[in-house]
Amino acid sequence: LMHYNASEPDGVRPSVQLACYLGAMMPHSFEAYLDEQLNSLREQGVFRTLRELQSPTGPRSTIDGKSVINLSSNNYLGLANHPALKAAAIKAIEEWGVGSGAVRTIIGTMSIHEELEQRLTEFKHTEAVLVLQSGFTANAAVLGVVLNDGDLVISDALNHASIIDGIRLTKAARAVYQHNDMADLERVLQANQGKYRNTVIVTDGVFSMDGDIAPLPRIAELAEHYGAITMVDDAHASGVLGKNGSGTVSHYGIKHWDIQVGTLSKAIGAVGGYVATSSKLRQLMEHRARPFLFSTSHPPAVVASCLAAIKLLQSVEGEQLHQQLWENTKFFKAGLNKLGFNTGISETPITPVIVGDGAKAMQFSDSLFQAGVFAQGIAFPTVAKDKGRVRTIVTASHSNADLAEALNIFEHVGRSMQLI
Ligand code: PMP
Repeated sequence: LMHYNASEPDGVRPSVQLACYLGAMMPHSFEAYLDEQLNSLREQGVFRTLRELQSPTGPRSTIDGKSVINLSSNNYLGLANHPALKAAAIKAIEEWGVGSGAVRTIIGTMSIHEELEQRLTEFKHTEAVLVLQSGFTANAAVLGVVLNDGDLVISDALNHASIIDGIRLTKAARAVYQHNDMADLERVLQANQGKYRNTVIVTDGVFSMDGDIAPLPRIAELAEHYGAITMVDDAHASGVLGKNGSGTVSHYGIKHWDIQVGTLSKAIGAVGGYVATSSKLRQLMEHRARPFLFSTSHPPAVVASCLAAIKLLQSVEGEQLHQQLWENTKFFKAGLNKLGFNTGISETPITPVIVGDGAKAMQFSDSLFQAGVFAQGIAFPTVAKDKGRVRTIVTASHSNADLAEALNIFEHVGRSMQLI
């Protein structure tokens, strides 16, 4: 529309002036739309501004100008700020620069990308591993390759958003089974027997809101019986469950499992995701996984820090950190329960403190923050309306004194709000 016309006084034709005028109207209605959406968030009581971390993430962090005990990071083993990871990243920048330069199929695969996948393959005891830019991307990438027209995916009701969105991007038929309900899963499998080419059962390994673990052994049995493919998202199990933190499949000692997605963004301390699976599926992903094909690979510093983290997990220090994480988890959970808080069905370092009403949960979180503990408040729609909570995550780097002080603060604030 914007043709320049020298014969017109202001250089554009009248029709173009009209188009520009209409164009000028557009931002107004778009702004009205934005206001409407933002106001609706405010009315629901879920509008928020981001808290700002003003120090490295650690057991104690400076958040919004206040030094607090940090019970909200996924830095399970304290590796995000570990000297070995930092040194590896700095060395990689010196050797390789700051960017990989391209997507991996063009020329973005450096020797260290290959080395990380090799190391992860050994760590996960699978045939192959493909690394992607994040856990979110890894879920979407693998689901997009495995599922197509004529396939079925059966997903746990509480699976992570990246699984839900990954499924939405495919043309497969979809069904949801009640959270961790194996009778319901079997009912869905039975009802769809023989109707589809590939049937995929997908579950989180550890559920991020309740900290409970998926019953993988029963899922594996059902999958074998009904000829389904098994997939687990081990974002919160990577570095936390299983031998050296190698995940839920290892935790249960399961012999055959088809697809394990892991993240490098939480316990591993950096950022990224991976798919640990068969060589054939990895090969197919190399050709078809869209985030792999169309998005630039990890910068060398990130790859090097992930490599250092995986090496560390398999060392004596890694074992000590893993043990410390679980000791801290038990101590803190027992402390909360002793005070009379409801920690739900958690079996892992993710421990919710369920208070019911969402607004009360947000107020609880704010009061804890003022008293020196950062524990995220979580309300509907992330959790059910009557299951508002603050979510706590302890790490290996919290000292006993940190956790004892946090428990004191929980007691004090909990009593003043008559939650206990
Ligand atoms: N799956 C689950 C269960 C998660 O909790 C998360 C992170 N919130 C992801 C996947 C995504 O991982 P990443 O942050 O590496 O993208």
